[in-house]
Amino acid sequence: MHIGIVSLFPAMLGEALAHGVLGRAMTQGVFEVDVVDPREFATDVHRTVDDRPYGGGPGMVLKVEPLRSALRRAVHRAPAGSRRVYLGADGRRFDQDTARAASALPGLVLVAGRYEGVDERFVEREIDEVWSIGDYVLTGGELPALVVIDAIVRLLPGALGCSESAEQESFANGLLDWPHYTRPAVVDGDAVPEVLQSGDHEAIRRWRLREALGRTWLRRPELLERRGMSAEERGLLEEFKVERAARTRPDR
Ligand code: SAM
Repeated sequence: MHIGIVSLFPAMLGEALAHGVLGRAMTQGVFEVDVVDPREFATDVHRTVDDRPYGGGPGMVLKVEPLRSALRRAVHRAPAGSRRVYLGADGRRFDQDTARAASALPGLVLVAGRYEGVDERFVEREIDEVWSIGDYVLTGGELPALVVIDAIVRLLPGALGCSESAEQESFANGLLDWPHYTRPAVVDGDAVPEVLQSGDHEAIRRWRLREALGRTWLRRPELLERRGMSAEERGLLEEFKVERAARTRPDR
């Protein structure tokens, strides 16, 4: 997959993509990154890319022309069918479904804003979609670009080794992940749930599903409402609730 990034701070991106699963995937050619700096396209001696907002108010706004030239350079180097995405707090929420859909694209060109944001005419004319990584405001679009790239690249074929899996984790089936444990079996008197050491695959499957349902019910109930549950899942969630109530009874 080809990923273009339009950014005023290219140095923020390279190092962050060079490690772990992403670094390995890049070395193996699973994806490639091409960063274009709008400052290269500024025409005055000060390399100006921003200006004061019309209507007054604080901050500066990124100008259309340098951004547009940078985006067009990035799009020109990207394969046909690539989507052009602006990262903005005012965008549609980026989630696992968006990541999965994007991982099927031949390419993506991401635009990172700065300051108060970008001239709206740039977004209207040049951008296919606006993605937000959450309901908070960051100082720039570089971290959101990295978040989006990380979430997408790990879904690309060949990115995760066989010991890592994108199929059994939070959101893969509309639920949060179940709890994980590793050796030693007891830490400060706190033992790993017995069932996980039983070798009984069916019991382990049911325990994991029950914990995933329970955790989703406790922490993100809206996910469960949206997803619905099978008869088995409803039964397991009931079990979870009963056990939890017993655990947290004041006399226990
Ligand atoms: N005035 C903008 C607003 O209120 O939505 C905030 C601009 S922010 C200080 C500067 C840049 O950071 C934005 O242009 C955008 O590219 C990026 N950014 C900030 N928060 C973001 C978020 N939650 N998701 C995606 N991008 C974000």
